Amino acid sequence: MDITKQLDKVQFDTQAIQQLDSAHYLHPFTDHNALAARGARVMVKGDGIYLWDSDGHKILDAMSGLWCVNIGYGRTSMADAVYKQMQTLPFYNSFFNTTNLPAVQLAALLVDVSPPQFNHVFFTGSGSEANDTIVRMVRRYWELMGQSERHVIISRHNAYHGSTIAGVSLGGMAGMHAQGGPMVPGIVHIGQPSYLEGGSGMTPDEFGLVAAGWLEERIRELGPDNVAAFIGEPVQGAGGVIIPPPTYWPEIQRICDKYGILLIADEVICGFGRLGAWFGSTLLGIKPDLIAFAKGVTSGYIPLGGVLVGDRVAAVLTEKGGDFNHGFTYSGHPVACAAALENIRILRDEQLVEKVAQDTGPYLKQKFTALADHPLVGHADSCGFVAGLNLVRRKGATVHGNEVFDGDLGVGMICRGYMFERGIIMRAVGDRMIIAPPLVTTREQIDEMTGKIGAALDDTLAELR
Ligand code: PLP
Repeated sequence: MDITKQLDKVQFDTQAIQQLDSAHYLHPFTDHNALAARGARVMVKGDGIYLWDSDGHKILDAMSGLWCVNIGYGRTSMADAVYKQMQTLPFYNSFFNTTNLPAVQLAALLVDVSPPQFNHVFFTGSGSEANDTIVRMVRRYWELMGQSERHVIISRHNAYHGSTIAGVSLGGMAGMHAQGGPMVPGIVHIGQPSYLEGGSGMTPDEFGLVAAGWLEERIRELGPDNVAAFIGEPVQGAGGVIIPPPTYWPEIQRICDKYGILLIADEVICGFGRLGAWFGSTLLGIKPDLIAFAKGVTSGYIPLGGVLVGDRVAAVLTEKGGDFNHGFTYSGHPVACAAALENIRILRDEQLVEKVAQDTGPYLKQKFTALADHPLVGHADSCGFVAGLNLVRRKGATVHGNEVFDGDLGVGMICRGYMFERGIIMRAVGDRMIIAPPLVTTREQIDEMTGKIGAALDDTLAELR
């Protein structure tokens, strides 16, 4: 059949879409044999916090797409902003001494919503590109400072910083490091601040100081004069919503200051209201030199990322640096920037960040942590609009006494399957079930969400018994 006719026909036929998908489309992070056997779920529509698939199922998207649809689906004003910009100037680059209005306006607006030490922005197309940019920018900064031996960047195990080669190298995901190496040299990892994993016998605050102390130990081992920067997500997302104890980040800041090393916050998930603050760094009490952002800047409607560059770095780059030989075709893309401008207008006008901080975030905490009463849940916690719960075989007297499932059983994935059946998307990281709902989620919708989660937990328990 002629390809255009074939493409028109599949629009109405789930199986035909799945066959074509399986034949030609290589998906990210996907086992294609398993996908071919199952057939991909085809998403066709989104509105508010709900999605519809090609078989007509309505699903509550408790993951905001991929941690990004902060303003919810179906915003016509976003479509209007993009349409208008496409008609005016669909593309021009920012190389060779040119600029465009939406990029300039967005840079100024981002400076306005970001912590006071930020007065400059570098645009990229994604979070991974933002982190690639940071690796090069940090090393360039130290070259310009006459200390090019300071090139090592310290990150953490189980961190996620993207899928480009620098992103993977910065990240601490064992499964990613095992493929497609070697990694970028000069990047090392310390332990993550996971109280559940490493805090046995300590209070959370004690453990926070111990985990931050691993940074100081590593700096001393490497020699402070060789260390360029430390990078971390304020709250680790893809690693399983790991919320560090309150003592952790202030101690990290103290150590970075003591040795003069740059502090980088990867806010690709935490930025733009996700934790109930415009940036997670502010909430967790740190003053980073660089912030990577993406996702929530456009709520995922159009790809855009970037780096907020603090005054310490920007002054050196702009005054001493000459050309910084780095940039992307889509840096400052006018249509993406127009989408971000409208997205930030919505976040501001609807006071979504404040709502998460003062109203819906605390309500989610109350409802979500109550799920820890379920016999299958060993622990549940949240920070703003990210939350996670741990599935356990048997509860102990403390969280460290919980008896966990054999990893091979894949209990998290079983539970995720039941979540889908109950009409809710929740992600499984091992046996930790996590959510990051759109910031527009109301109290009533939180009731609906936690009700569905509770029902799927019952289904999972029934299967395991
Ligand atoms: N950094 C963090 C913390 C992320 O969660 C992600 C993506 O999930 C990235 C970086 C990479 O962003 P992107 O997928 O836009 O390249």
